[in-house]
Amino acid sequence: MPEDDDEDWMKYASAGFGQTNYSLWDEETEEPEETPEVDQFDLDMPEQLGTHMEEIPRAPNPAGLKHLVRVGCCDFCLGRLGGKKRYEQTIEQSGIEIRQTVIDGNSHLANIREEIPLCPFCENLFDETDLLADIIYDSIEPYEIKRLQLGARFPKDQIEEEDAQRKRYAATGSDGLKTGLVAEIARKLNKRLDGVKLVNEKPHVLALIDVLTLTVELDVRAHYIYGRYRKLERGIPQTRWPCRACKGRGCEKCNDTGLQYESSVQDLIGNPILDVLKAEEHSFHGMGREDIDVRCMGRGRPFVIELKEPKLRSCSYEELENIINTQAAGAIEVTDLRSSNRSEVVRIKDTPADKSYTIRFKLLPMNELEYGVLTAPLDLTKTDRKSRKRKQRRGDKRKDNTKPLPTEIITEENGFNQDELTKMKKAELEAICVEHKLAKTGKKNELIERILAMPKPGSSCFDLPDHETIKSTIMSLEGTKLAQRTPDRVAHRRADLIRRRDVVTVHEPVIETMEDGVTEVEFTLRCESGTYVKETIHGDNGRTQPSVASLLKAKCEVIWLDVGDIHAD
Ligand SMILES: [Zn+2]
Ligand SMILES: [Zn+2]
Repeated sequence: MPEDDDEDWMKYASAGFGQTNYSLWDEETEEPEETPEVDQFDLDMPEQLGTHMEEIPRAPNPAGLKHLVRVGCCDFCLGRLGGKKRYEQTIEQSGIEIRQTVIDGNSHLANIREEIPLCPFCENLFDETDLLADIIYDSIEPYEIKRLQLGARFPKDQIEEEDAQRKRYAATGSDGLKTGLVAEIARKLNKRLDGVKLVNEKPHVLALIDVLTLTVELDVRAHYIYGRYRKLERGIPQTRWPCRACKGRGCEKCNDTGLQYESSVQDLIGNPILDVLKAEEHSFHGMGREDIDVRCMGRGRPFVIELKEPKLRSCSYEELENIINTQAAGAIEVTDLRSSNRSEVVRIKDTPADKSYTIRFKLLPMNELEYGVLTAPLDLTKTDRKSRKRKQRRGDKRKDNTKPLPTEIITEENGFNQDELTKMKKAELEAICVEHKLAKTGKKNELIERILAMPKPGSSCFDLPDHETIKSTIMSLEGTKLAQRTPDRVAHRRADLIRRRDVVTVHEPVIETMEDGVTEVEFTLRCESGTYVKETIHGDNGRTQPSVASLLKAKCEVIWLDVGDIHAD
């Protein structure tokens, strides 16, 4: 999942700063310890350098400083490792000062940098800090950013080598090579950046310096926008669906768009924002989703849209709303746009919110057998009751739910068949006719025909309920705890188990008898998050109990469904 990118980069970034205490911006808190004056020590430790390594004290001991100069340290490293840097100084200024002091008493070291031109601590990397600052400055120029983080990538052995040398000779608490180099580049950049803060977390852009190639890689973080959308037209999926025929590559069927449906809520919102923020791509995170044929009304569904690699980060959200709503031309509508962040994506996805739905369906006659299927007992031992206490809701996946639940009862056929009846004697056939209250007159084949045409047991239909019964039955749903076995239509992506969901409120239905004599019912209900609403109406072959169909003893065919309010935020 792309959600992990952020964390990965964080690891990367901090790895770039070395393993020791990382302190980019708080140099002032790392003032070196109080140390004796140089002169005193010069007398005490005259000529031990170069005899035994063990006898060389660490900087800022004068002998230690002299050693650093003698081995060819550059001014930057001398300042970084010498432990003499004052608050207002740069490491380079401090280095120059240290070198002068050492040369004053050891004139033979005056030209040491010409003899040893490569600094053993940084391999002259600090000479490149102006260049690197320039590269970073130029590469972030196209981006509107307020927060910049720097990182550096070093060969591992270079870091280890410097670490060992530094711990042996440098002043305690000196910055490591990575920290020191990045701090120096930051210092140079800081003077030129206007309105950009150098940060250690949550950057808009992470500039990663590769010291081997002297190049800079930019990781431009996404910009997030929160809002609510209403879907006013049916037939629009929430997110992009790749074309089934070509899996998104583009083919004749999809007009080379690679899309199964021409538009999506995601594209209708995201594409205009791409233009405004000059971003590369978008991904969409909704607080749940409605089916493609379901509208979303009321205050709309909360979402966060993620814009990848944006050049701009500030915009008028009011203007953005206008642009989106104008271009969508009534298909969708957005409100409440504002800037957001990655953690809100998690919140949006994990919030189980009650939702209101308006649904319209027609009533058709139902026979006894169909009723039997709708009301066949559900095995309620397999509910997800326990798991609902925990945070896990999405997918409701648990290992012990992999066993299939028993399927619905199989309906019995009319017990007679033609072959058997033909073999019977006429008297036997007459007896059957009497038993089933059929006329026993006529020839043998007429009797057989009559018996076969006999209505199957249970095939007689219930009378359709009157309006008053429909109304009171639907109102009685309020407060009902439904048992819903995973519908077949979603079984491929959800565990097959029975969920308990509440019907919170029910509004009075509108009942109409249409021109063709069919009764249609429309009503609004509020249910707990995760309720299968269409199934609550038609009963899903007994997988949802109770259902409006089973309560009314009538087949309920859903005509349309709208999501009204999502009761969150
Ligand atoms: Zn150096
Ligand atoms: Zn295609």
